[in-house]
Amino acid sequence: MIYLDSSATNPVDPRVKESMWPFLEEEFGNPSSKYYTLAENAKNAVQNAREQVALLLNCLADELIFTSCATESNNFVLKGIAHYYRDRGKHIITTKVEHKSVLETCEFLEGEGYEVTYLNVNEYGRVEESELLNALRQDTILVSIIWGNNEIGTINHIEELAKSVKGKNKDIFFHSDATQVIGKVKVDLNSVPIDFLSLSGHKMYGPKGIGACFIRKRELGLRTRITPLLHGGSQEDGYRSGTLSVHNIVGLGKAAEIAREEFDSHVHHLKELEKIFLDELEKSIPSAIINGDMKKKIPGIINITIPGVNNELIIRSLKDKFAISTGSACSINEPSYVLSAIGLNSFMIRNSFRISLNKFIDKNDVKEFIKNLNISVRAYSI
Ligand code: PMP
Repeated sequence: MIYLDSSATNPVDPRVKESMWPFLEEEFGNPSSKYYTLAENAKNAVQNAREQVALLLNCLADELIFTSCATESNNFVLKGIAHYYRDRGKHIITTKVEHKSVLETCEFLEGEGYEVTYLNVNEYGRVEESELLNALRQDTILVSIIWGNNEIGTINHIEELAKSVKGKNKDIFFHSDATQVIGKVKVDLNSVPIDFLSLSGHKMYGPKGIGACFIRKRELGLRTRITPLLHGGSQEDGYRSGTLSVHNIVGLGKAAEIAREEFDSHVHHLKELEKIFLDELEKSIPSAIINGDMKKKIPGIINITIPGVNNELIIRSLKDKFAISTGSACSINEPSYVLSAIGLNSFMIRNSFRISLNKFIDKNDVKEFIKNLNISVRAYSI
């Protein structure tokens, strides 16, 4: 099987697996227990992982809390801010191309009386600064904008957008869902003035069931409080109760360390494969159209329309040898609202699919895929 659906999930890096084993075997202590060695070992391992993630993002270790996934981080941030700061205002701004875990949380909050503005994006799927600034109101409490899109790979100018919002009103919180960009795009939280960020382990060759949330400290090192999603034992400084998933946290830390150390070679590999992919595609299937922006994009995510070729038929015809996708695994039964937002009609959307590359495949895999794709396209063209 040649796996080309890395935006959905990834194989776990063998070094990550190795780092996790001791915490599934002899090092099973609860990091919240006190004084004895087993507990201290678990606590130290969690702290080490927190520092590994902080180094990758260039933030402080105690600006990070561990969650179960990016869906949880997004829910936690949006609901947490809305509820904690409800007296400041009830207006939230987001975009039409967010992941469902942001969009459906916003819809939930609308049901509670909050007002949400869903920004349009341009033909590349990018938020325009002027649209965002026009949408700001006196009662806006939060702006949430995806860093890089999971279906088309377009990257937003998060630094500029955050600076403009803060320039208008520094009390408006800025959150970004960075799930798809970690390890593929430089994220330096020392220079990007956002307050919250979400990420997920399994998108960066770590395990499933672990995510993190960055919460920027305020002046004088004070924590920014928001309403917790999970109440209980006060773990994670009361932000997120529940016994920590130590093995998963260790795995996320190791994945972050590898992502930082191998960032350049990883990006180089993905870009090289992408170039081969696009060259081969153009040669074999010249009618193929690439959606999104080819300039400022997440390396390795390629969204393609082949007019007259149904995406489901293509995916099914290739399924025994290749894993590719129509788009987000989290909204698999609906036509892509992301492609719709960048102007594709329903015919074109039904003829579109996503390829997402990863570090475990090579140029022969890519060539093999294009060869097979070409055969399927010829068989299923209408
Ligand atoms: N945000 C984005 C942009 C994603 O691509 C995904 C995963 N498809 C998520 C959030 C949710 O991540 P998780 O699977 O960790 O909940």
